[in-house]
Amino acid sequence: MSALRWRGWSSLRFDNAFAASFPADARRDAQPRQTPRVAYAHATPTPTHAPAWLHLNDALAAAMGLPTQDDEDCSADLLRVLSGNAVAPGMMPIATRYAGHQFGNFAGQLGDGRAMTLGEQVHDGHPHGQRFEWQLKGAGPTAYSRQGDGRAVLRSSLREYVCSEAMHALGIPTTRALSLIATGERVMRDVMYDGHPAPEPGAVVCRVAPSFLRFGHLQMAAVENNTALLRQLLHHVVRLYMPDCRHDNDAETALAWWQEVANRSVRMVVGWQRVGFVHGVMNTDNCSVLGLSIDYGPYGFLEPVDWQWTPNTTDAGRRRYRYEQQPPIMMWNLVRLAEALLPLVEETHGEERAATLFEDALSTTSASMEQQLLQMWQQKLGLQGADGATHAFHKDDHAWLAEGFDLGQASAVDFTLWFRALADMAAFGAQRSVDAAYEHLAAISYEPARMASMRDRWQAWLHTLRAMWRRADGPTLSASARSERMNLVNPLYVPRNYLAQEAIDALMNGDVTRLHHWFDVLRQPYTEQAGAHAFAAMRPEWAAHRVGCSMLSCSS
Ligand code: AMP
Ligand code: MG
Repeated sequence: MSALRWRGWSSLRFDNAFAASFPADARRDAQPRQTPRVAYAHATPTPTHAPAWLHLNDALAAAMGLPTQDDEDCSADLLRVLSGNAVAPGMMPIATRYAGHQFGNFAGQLGDGRAMTLGEQVHDGHPHGQRFEWQLKGAGPTAYSRQGDGRAVLRSSLREYVCSEAMHALGIPTTRALSLIATGERVMRDVMYDGHPAPEPGAVVCRVAPSFLRFGHLQMAAVENNTALLRQLLHHVVRLYMPDCRHDNDAETALAWWQEVANRSVRMVVGWQRVGFVHGVMNTDNCSVLGLSIDYGPYGFLEPVDWQWTPNTTDAGRRRYRYEQQPPIMMWNLVRLAEALLPLVEETHGEERAATLFEDALSTTSASMEQQLLQMWQQKLGLQGADGATHAFHKDDHAWLAEGFDLGQASAVDFTLWFRALADMAAFGAQRSVDAAYEHLAAISYEPARMASMRDRWQAWLHTLRAMWRRADGPTLSASARSERMNLVNPLYVPRNYLAQEAIDALMNGDVTRLHHWFDVLRQPYTEQAGAHAFAAMRPEWAAHRVGCSMLSCSS
């Protein structure tokens, strides 16, 4: 990438496409309020006392035509804008209005309560004018802050910052993160909602995405029977981000667009399942219309395999958003999006036919999700032919896969290391005994006694895996080629919660190096890196029950 010379803010072009074309609330203050029938309210970042860099994402900054942190002239300038202490020329800060189903219930108006869009940049350096929406999270109250303070604490900001970039490197569609800045101010938080609030250091993250629009934006217009706004939202997203969905009438456009959102959302969730990511708050206000992973709150990555696990304490009782529920919940959320779009399809097709059209699309999408999930497991397990294609799974194969899922959970193996261990086994080909492969797996179990009691079952399962490898590609694929291919879909480094906690603890002690090192390692999650062993290690005992390491609360 060629290094762009920083010519100041005037070199960046902000078209603020959303703010420029949608209806805004007439008031400009940050008093919490209902703002019926508009799409956003103007917002102003609240300055912070003593902002200080914790991290700037150089790679993303360069892609946006921004200077890097080393460039001292502009570093101070950038810090002011990214911390909310100044608004750059051309920007137009707003908080957008959306609704959403939270934990299964429609919650009415929510909106950007602690996020605000600074502006929408069109980067000319990119052949087609790439769009970057700049959004600060934690920059103070907006019209949608309700009882909240619009601030974010360092620990949750660091978690979002690191995870969104880790997901990007993992190849999973996501919003990105440009900067992590300490505000020098304290924020009161009750970590476990148990009546013990305490002051904590605050931070601001600048998130970046082509757009932060959510299913909830359309739901908001739909619930107010505001067909004009609904139509405008549809046309806006289609025009700027998905021009192929455009048809002669709105009904066909709405149907094609829904299908595109559904396809992207399915791809995203299949990616989540592949790397063991559990979002934790899959409410429709946290579902991006671009199919991006968005709003990293109480997320987590599976450590001991437990398909019912959720990292979210708020969800613990309901277990609505546990790992195994993510694909069906994504479908449930897509139904809510279809409901919001119904009026536009009914105009042309009438009620009955519109419903049938969506129902058909939903069943096809659901079948496609199942198929992509199976294919994903086959790839994780190295069950592809030499040409990379996966083969039809027979009844016995399904039973074998189910047995693997059972064994993984019953013996609590580390999800991430499990698949790397299988790739190791593949690399050794026939030279390594199934016995040795079992020992490797036993070493990554969180419950060694239970693991040992299942030794025979594991060995039988591993034998079958080997036989399936032989059957899948015969002699044409070398052992090392299979192993390498498996490692391309099975990461070694994922942002484990306890590692985030360690990085946070280090920051609290004034040490930023841990965060910087970890961030760099996560940029190449599939490649084993020298000196990075600690970032791939199983969750240690101390972290099993510590708040922040295995359980987290929402919206901190
Ligand atoms: P989340 O659970 O972070 O996706 O947030 C759900 C809703 O609550 C969104 O409308 C947020 O803007 C709002 N919210 C969460 N935390 C705060 C906060 N500290 N101040 C204001 N609004 C908040
Ligand atoms: Mg949210």
